[in-house]
Amino acid sequence: MTSIGTLGSHCALQVLKGAKDEGFETLLVCEKKRERLYRRFNFIDKIILVESFRDILEQKYASQLNEQNTIIIPHGTLISQMTSSEIESIKIPIFGNKWILRWESDRMMKEKLMIESRLHIPKSIPNPTEINDLTIAKRHGAAGGKGYFLTTSEKDYKEKRDHLINQGIIKGDSDLYLQEYAFGVSAYLQYFYSPINNELEFFGIDRRYESDIDGLGRIPAPQQISVDKIPSFNVIGNSPLVLRESLLEEVYSMGERFVEAAKRLVPPVGMTGPFCLEGVYNEDGQFTTFEFSARIVAGTNLYVDGSPYTAFMYNEPMSMGRRIAREIKIAKKDGKIAQVVT
Ligand code: AMP
Repeated sequence: MTSIGTLGSHCALQVLKGAKDEGFETLLVCEKKRERLYRRFNFIDKIILVESFRDILEQKYASQLNEQNTIIIPHGTLISQMTSSEIESIKIPIFGNKWILRWESDRMMKEKLMIESRLHIPKSIPNPTEINDLTIAKRHGAAGGKGYFLTTSEKDYKEKRDHLINQGIIKGDSDLYLQEYAFGVSAYLQYFYSPINNELEFFGIDRRYESDIDGLGRIPAPQQISVDKIPSFNVIGNSPLVLRESLLEEVYSMGERFVEAAKRLVPPVGMTGPFCLEGVYNEDGQFTTFEFSARIVAGTNLYVDGSPYTAFMYNEPMSMGRRIAREIKIAKKDGKIAQVVT
């Protein structure tokens, strides 16, 4: 019997509930400090307790997972806690293409894949001396927006960078990636690509609430100016959004271009399973993509009972977690499991 497993964080509840609904055994790798939380949910069949998620790199835990015939569903916590090489070295089957996670974590590879997808992307700024407009400084990997800051000049950049160094958040310039700030309404577009039926499904949209930047609007301008605080972009939660229907055509087109580009650039299977294009719509309805996630995003947690878009495709509640489990079920039945795990 195959079990579906994931790390206890991020979107674990949604993933395991979806797996249970599709008839799988479910397994959670759980840090001891979170055991009480996850024991509350009866759709989790087995909990493997660890001190740290990195313990699954040890043979002892890997064997336990293999004994349970586990397929691991990767999410943002896996990426933020392990290096790309460590993830690639995991011997347990991982849903999707684990090799594409490196393209998510490495800013230069990320940019290359977005360019190959013919997405409209913000200009990157190779050197702080070239900052002369509103610029966002971001950390590498899935940092969740922590330690990001806005700047408009080299002098201001250096002050803020030094502040982060003193706080121990970064080591130096090489930990930061500079990108032109894109103005508009943020939207995080959630997709699922099935290699089994060669089809792209659009699942939904979320917006992120990031602290402290999203709280700034509640503070009047004179007080904002007098407070000496560098606002961060740390994700706290997500809220739903639906788009003007006239924007949907391009949503599908962007997703398809991304899947096609990944097929060319990222062996062996390109972009399979869930992914997200992240950016902003400007006043003309043009989307600028500043990021992608090559795996399930936590914004899908909004739609455990389905989204306004999944309702058009499925006559049943379909979460992203459940869609993943369904893909595994179909692949197993058709003898195509190699197409959906790496
Ligand atoms: P990221 O880690 O790239 O997803 O960025 C975290 C947050 O920073 C995003 O959710 C946005 O609020 C903001 N952000 C990142 N890049 C840009 C950009 N180029 N322009 C505007 N906002 C951005």
